Amino acid sequence: MAMGRSRRRESYGEFWPAYVDVLSTLLMVLMLLSKAHAFDTVILDPGHGAHDRGAAIGYVYEKHLALDTARRVEQLLKKEGLKVIMSRSRDVFIPLQDRSALGNSRGNSIFVSIHYNYNRGGSGAGAETYYHFSSSYMLAAYIQAYLVQRSSMLNRGVKNAGFHVIRATTKNPAVLVECGFVSNSTERARMLTGEFRAKIAEGIAQGIIAFRKSK
Ligand SMILES: [Zn+2]
Repeated sequence: MAMGRSRRRESYGEFWPAYVDVLSTLLMVLMLLSKAHAFDTVILDPGHGAHDRGAAIGYVYEKHLALDTARRVEQLLKKEGLKVIMSRSRDVFIPLQDRSALGNSRGNSIFVSIHYNYNRGGSGAGAETYYHFSSSYMLAAYIQAYLVQRSSMLNRGVKNAGFHVIRATTKNPAVLVECGFVSNSTERARMLTGEFRAKIAEGIAQGIIAFRKSK
């Protein structure tokens, strides 16, 4: 028994240096990988603004809903210690090119465009999140999952599309979130309440934070 134990100790001795080498190499690779994906800044892009009202029914304008929601997300992310850059904090018009230029303006960032949806006839319902490049898919999936969970909205899924802001933002993961349909009377009534917009904002913020922790 004693012999066996000491033999094992010897073999550990031989094994250990190689094991440390493998471990330190692995650690270095992991650090490099996490560095490549790490972000400390979230660029929030409330859709539309000024004369561009976005989806509109009566006096309910997408541009107002998107700005209010983005401001709520901004506050939640700042509480988590993240830096936030807003493409607009007021009711102003920002050309799409300026929004994607902002999305590419710095590294260590992610870009999240916030919209509300519209369809003719008003039967459309639920939330969906768009990505363009496959490198943005996971961010979209996290946001969509938490948004649906928090808001209890119908899950329309994660979708691929070529919207300018997510196509032209090439430097960072970029997604576009559609937080329900202005054209749907039931969803419109809910989104007019601050409580519901708070839930939407929590879902988006929680998705971003969970995505960051997954890195
Ligand atoms: Zn929109």
